Amino acid sequence: MNRIKKKNFVNLFNLADLNLKELGLMEIPEKELYKLSIHQISNLLRSKEVSVVEVVRSVLDRIEEIDSLINGYITINKQKSIARAQELDHILADSSVDFKKNLSLLGIPIAIKDNICTQGMKTTCASQILSNFVSPYNATVVRKLLDQGAIIIGKTNLDEFAMGSSTETSHFGCTRNPWNVNHTPGGSSGGSTSIIAADEAVCALGSDTGGSIRQPASFCGVVGLKPTYGRVSRFGLVAFASSLDQIGPIAKDVTDCSLLMKVISGYDPCDSTSVNRPVPDYEEYLINDVKGIKIGIPQEYFEEGLDKEVEEKIRQAISLFQNLGAQIEEVSLPHTEYAIATYYILATAEASSNLARYDGVRYGFREDQFTDLIDMYEKTKQHGFGAEVKRRIMLGTYSLSSGYYDAYYLKAQKVRTLIKQDFEEAFQKFDVLLTPTAPIPAFKIGEKINDPLQMYLLDIYTLSANLAGIPALSIPCGFSHEGLPIGLQLLAGHFQEEKVLRVAYTFEQNTEYHKKLPKLP
Ligand code: GLN
Repeated sequence: MNRIKKKNFVNLFNLADLNLKELGLMEIPEKELYKLSIHQISNLLRSKEVSVVEVVRSVLDRIEEIDSLINGYITINKQKSIARAQELDHILADSSVDFKKNLSLLGIPIAIKDNICTQGMKTTCASQILSNFVSPYNATVVRKLLDQGAIIIGKTNLDEFAMGSSTETSHFGCTRNPWNVNHTPGGSSGGSTSIIAADEAVCALGSDTGGSIRQPASFCGVVGLKPTYGRVSRFGLVAFASSLDQIGPIAKDVTDCSLLMKVISGYDPCDSTSVNRPVPDYEEYLINDVKGIKIGIPQEYFEEGLDKEVEEKIRQAISLFQNLGAQIEEVSLPHTEYAIATYYILATAEASSNLARYDGVRYGFREDQFTDLIDMYEKTKQHGFGAEVKRRIMLGTYSLSSGYYDAYYLKAQKVRTLIKQDFEEAFQKFDVLLTPTAPIPAFKIGEKINDPLQMYLLDIYTLSANLAGIPALSIPCGFSHEGLPIGLQLLAGHFQEEKVLRVAYTFEQNTEYHKKLPKLP
């Protein structure tokens, strides 16, 4: 990457002074502001062609129009968003504000996955047990967004406690895929990805423990990035599996994704696993050029179970990169076949420990009919958690119990190291790896929910990045014959988000997939 020159780089903030009407970019009617990206809205706000209130109203109208169909939101923060927009319009009127430095997201409506704490607004984790929980503090990422002038427009739906791949295990009903409402949006961040695809927010945050940003991003045709473990603070993210969880951006394009990354990344003394290391200016790596970049294609990701159409689109993307001057070569990640077993042992073990805190005493739901303390615990958990969460707690408790610990948990930790070493070896030779994000396009609602193993198998291409702690991004690379989006995944070594962003940006600049919109009313 050191050899890569910063060519063709356009600093977005220099564009602020351009008159967009003269450039013919002001064709979008006022009521369709919701369709724009962060960088487009920022330019309109800075040149004072629209107000923050207009942007926020446009997005709120869109939510009102469409969300009864999509069910992407659990909470809509209507009144406070309008009030905040009015305040921000006053700040905007003060021409001495240095936007690049202080307010890079001024007036941008962003949606937050409902397992990330927001002060004064519910954080439910899509669970009955937290259905009335209001966090007394903001997650670090939320504070950072607010500090940059963003507006939290609402909280998005997810699989209960982020456990799932379809957003069907939510206590608040499943989310629907905007490309075909009979299909799932994927999961667990299906609320955050579907609302971006349906233009119900400008950008969003999700969380990714085993693929929960990337797989729904691929199913919904949007960009999603799981950062390196330790790059983004997890303080205020409700824990599922603490050694795997990361918060990351979900966006309409790669430029927005890197803008968000810059804001949410960095050391946080409140999260002991966050790493004290400078945050690059990711925008500087938005370079339309992959000449000489070495892209590895893991052969194990193209074996049995990969849908023919998905494979075809991935192979087309590989040819495109080849034509653009990238050096493509196959690579082996020999321990890939153990990723699913390893992940589901470790993630459930950590979950069983993390979820022990929902005891009906400290916070959240409590069953009110009980005979004694033990009965209260049992009934609270029995009625407060859904079936998938209970399955995970039982699996995790089993693998941690004496007599089984060495055979399952300890062995899984060792295999995790082998998986990490596979990647370390691959990144000695390659800048990035390219794989499908998911083996199939979005499946139908109800199709897999009663077969947990089938559901778990879908995570085959995304889990390893979490086990290894490396960054991975999903970007749209085509559509199935049914018109459902297909995503490709780019992975890089620890703290090398800029490499995946650059390669993804080049792909986006040379394709049109991100411009296609779902047909919605
Ligand atoms: N689908 C995976 C699971 O159910 C990943 C979930 C996630 O990343 N939050 O565990």
